Amino acid sequence: MSDVAALEASNIHKVFGDNEVLKGIDLTANKGDVISIIGSSGSGKSTFLRCMNLLEIPTQGDIALHSEKIGFKHLRNGERLPSDNKQVERIRSKLSMVFQGFNLWSHMTVLENIIEAPVHVLGIPKKEAIEQAEGLLERVGLHDRKDYYPAHMSGGQQQRAAIARALAMNPEVMLFDEPTSALDPELVGEVLKVMRSLAEEGRTMLVVTHEMAFARDVSNQVLFLHQGIVEERGSPQKVFENPDSERMKQFLAPKY
Ligand code: ADP
Ligand code: MG
Repeated sequence: MSDVAALEASNIHKVFGDNEVLKGIDLTANKGDVISIIGSSGSGKSTFLRCMNLLEIPTQGDIALHSEKIGFKHLRNGERLPSDNKQVERIRSKLSMVFQGFNLWSHMTVLENIIEAPVHVLGIPKKEAIEQAEGLLERVGLHDRKDYYPAHMSGGQQQRAAIARALAMNPEVMLFDEPTSALDPELVGEVLKVMRSLAEEGRTMLVVTHEMAFARDVSNQVLFLHQGIVEERGSPQKVFENPDSERMKQFLAPKY
């Protein structure tokens, strides 16, 4: 008997106006899976990730978190909306997202950033939230930065703080959208190191990335998107060393 998937998406479509950006994507993340999503700019990677935590509402398709299926209602114009806002809130709190641009609140210290949602969304007592946050800051190597404002930290430190903030929600699945793309090259490693440690402790993660070494070494499944479809998928060995798709081969070929 197999376990229930942590996250299951089937036949996800997304249309913006007359632009069909996602054309039927399937994904199953079991507990502990690290799934890298790669592909050229504009292939739909961010849109797919945003559909998973309902920052975008998929035009068609099903999403289930631990077999809890997200309910949608159909509107007259063909669009859909989630039928239960409480469910959306619950699902979002279980799928924390780390963005390319850090997205910390600039008027709050690192510690305040981390306890904000646990206190105000999950209703955790402040003292407890602070204790938890301090542990998480230790975890990402920022225990000495808790009273800093984001503007006074490097991009790598800000992104590690953003990861601690995502962890503070105790998410079932973590979503990363190019978390190192906005960083100076010398700061990429410290963020990847934290992500690697999360993978090693068995976190379920979906990672949109251009870091092919990370995708190859850390993930157990790779999806290559092209124009809104999964052009190639499989183990990193399969996708990187023996892809079926010509486009995947071109994507891997040295650019200069
Ligand atoms: P990627 O992350 O792979 O670079 P995106 O998911 O950001 O790709 O974008 C895929 C396509 O969807 C692009 O053509 C983009 O212009 C379009 N798109 C993304 N978000 C929106 C939006 N909110 N409204 C209209 N078009 C969008
Ligand atoms: Mg993107």
